[in-house]
Amino acid sequence: MTYVITSACINIKDAACQTVCPVECIYEGGMMMYIHPDECISCGLCLSVCPVDAIFEDDDIPAKEIAFKAANAEFFQAVVTGWGSPGGYSDRFRSDLDHPTVRERALTTIDN
Ligand code: SF4
Ligand code: SF4
Repeated sequence: MTYVITSACINIKDAACQTVCPVECIYEGGMMMYIHPDECISCGLCLSVCPVDAIFEDDDIPAKEIAFKAANAEFFQAVVTGWGSPGGYSDRFRSDLDHPTVRERALTTIDN
């Protein structure tokens, strides 16, 4: 099991979750934060502090947000940053990039 950040984080990105994560597995992209699925220890702390309820356990994601499970994982793969498993957040692992799912959702929100 891992935790997943979904669309409510887009353009909020206040980093409350990043501050409390004990293993520093929440990373900053251009429009939102992303949880590394292999580094997350599923403690649930991030979920408890998110002001917009953007974070879910991966088996409890609302249907319209399900694409964000892959978006969180793929943020670290060649499709976006290519970081692999950095082993913890640092300034070196901050990006202006976002997963295509996030860019598409942001455009949809603007259009509506
Ligand atoms: S569930 Fe715990 S380990 Fe996983 S991202 Fe949230 S705070 Fe970090
Ligand atoms: S606490 Fe919620 S809104 Fe804030 S950065 Fe984390 S996921 Fe995004």
